Amino acid sequence: MSVTVVDHPLARHLLTQLRDRDTPPPVFRTLAKRLALALALEAIRDLPTREVEIEGPLERSTGVAIDDLVAVPILRAGLGMLEAVTELFPEVAVGYIGLERDEASLQPQSYYRKLPEVHGRHVLILDPMLATGGSGSAATGAVREAGPASVRFVCVVSAPEGIARMEADHPDVPIFTAAIDRQLNERGYILPGLGDFGDRLFGTE
Ligand code: URA
Repeated sequence: MSVTVVDHPLARHLLTQLRDRDTPPPVFRTLAKRLALALALEAIRDLPTREVEIEGPLERSTGVAIDDLVAVPILRAGLGMLEAVTELFPEVAVGYIGLERDEASLQPQSYYRKLPEVHGRHVLILDPMLATGGSGSAATGAVREAGPASVRFVCVVSAPEGIARMEADHPDVPIFTAAIDRQLNERGYILPGLGDFGDRLFGTE
């Protein structure tokens, strides 16, 4: 299975600020978007492109176009990564998968799913914290049922446990992450992590 750690100095700089408990939600949102941009760029590095010919002011030349991209943020924390993708690719189709973690069992419960046409298209699943891997695996399974050409999993921080779960359930889905942290705590939070991404994004702590 392929796991790419995006360790560009800018990505590390942004992640350091995201980890800081004193970073307030408005700043957190901006940092998350910037980091998601760096992650998305890396995630689409090997995306198939279509050759196009264009008429330039001086000459005709060939270039490439990116088509058939779908972004699927996992609600709600994945929303913090979505704008980066829609700004980079205004044509992207967007689907939503709502999963929340049952705090007792730590198992994902589905409460919403709305996907655009996925068949034959390239999907970026956006979920900032790959913790137990339960939500990530469930969302990836839901997307794969719809027959995509490829799926890439994009997250900000991952835990070894989450990577192992994805490897067991979806070994052919590459993961793009800014860091692989040490471990999960007994409540399923990533250590050192950055706390609850959704709470920090939306100020609901
Ligand atoms: N979800 C979060 O928001 N943070 C974690 O550390 C784990 C799951």
